[in-house]
Amino acid sequence: MNDQFDIRSRRLNENEQDFEKALRPLSFMDFRGQEKVVENLKIFVSAASMRNEPMDHVLLHGPPGLGKTTLSNIIANELGVGFKVTSGPVLDKPGDLAGVLTALEANDVLFIDEIHRLSPVVEEYLYSAMEDYRIDIMIDKGPSARSIQLDINPFTMIGATTRSGLLTAPLRARFGINCHLEYYQAEVLSGIIQRSARIMDVPCSTEAASEIARRSRGTPRVANALLRRIRDFAQVKGNGKIDLNITKYALSALNIDTHGLDEIDNRILTTIIDKFQGGPVGLTTIATALGEDAGTLEEVYEPFLIQEGFLKRTPRGREVTELAWKHLGRNYQGNFQRLF
Ligand code: ADP
Repeated sequence: MNDQFDIRSRRLNENEQDFEKALRPLSFMDFRGQEKVVENLKIFVSAASMRNEPMDHVLLHGPPGLGKTTLSNIIANELGVGFKVTSGPVLDKPGDLAGVLTALEANDVLFIDEIHRLSPVVEEYLYSAMEDYRIDIMIDKGPSARSIQLDINPFTMIGATTRSGLLTAPLRARFGINCHLEYYQAEVLSGIIQRSARIMDVPCSTEAASEIARRSRGTPRVANALLRRIRDFAQVKGNGKIDLNITKYALSALNIDTHGLDEIDNRILTTIIDKFQGGPVGLTTIATALGEDAGTLEEVYEPFLIQEGFLKRTPRGREVTELAWKHLGRNYQGNFQRLF
């Protein structure tokens, strides 16, 4: 399996979690990129602080590893309030949610990762909590079952999702602030890599940082993980410094794609070329051929391939570009050739 794909999809182990934590920016000042989103959030944070009220609920959506958790943590820090973390799949029963909500202090930030995976009953309970800071809980069973209302402290909920298309309309409507995170430009990623290298106390040249940035799929989590691997190569095979040479050596040893594409990206492109002559082909057909979910393809994988110019959305379906044929070392068959 391609290492990079591994990094992105796998649950992080404890060591990696500590590493992410150490590199996580704690204030807006340290957070690079996503300028529009950050500018807006700064205003909402200041306004809420001035009024000494909880900030409006926020929905952060975008592909994995782009900084949703980081931004949420920053919002809590900048508001000067507590930060509690949970996730959709963990909140299995309404009682789990009640436990989390009743433990919140006034104006705290509650971060719910993978909010699209909340069960419908839990989601239902969340509505009144978000709107009126109140929950109804059922006590007892059978004939003596009754519901009691419980007031909770005012709080800010931040929901993060990679699949905003799966959110129900009522849940979506309860978020006052809605932000979409975009893939990072290589220059911004390069700055993030240099900051991480400073924190890790390893010298890293500008050229090396740019090279890593170009091959990180526009994603800070991938960039940081690559930096960590390359540091190992620099220590064992080099002089401990991350320069362009050792970076290129490590990236090729790690089998990292020259454009930063991961295994699924490459499988998508190869499938369209090999099975559908480069397209156009419908999204669900591609999904079936790959054994993937069509929504995940559309929301998690396609945006990067489109942004980087490997894939086009046309009225007749998805079509790979000449760049994709070349990238995969195939002879480009243009539209004209493919007709015959
Ligand atoms: P998500 O919640 O979207 O999956 P995270 O917030 O967990 O992503 O970010 C993954 C890693 O990338 C974190 O370790 C964080 O340090 C780093 N990171 C993300 N965005 C930025 C940024 N804008 N600047 C610096 N580091 C970032």
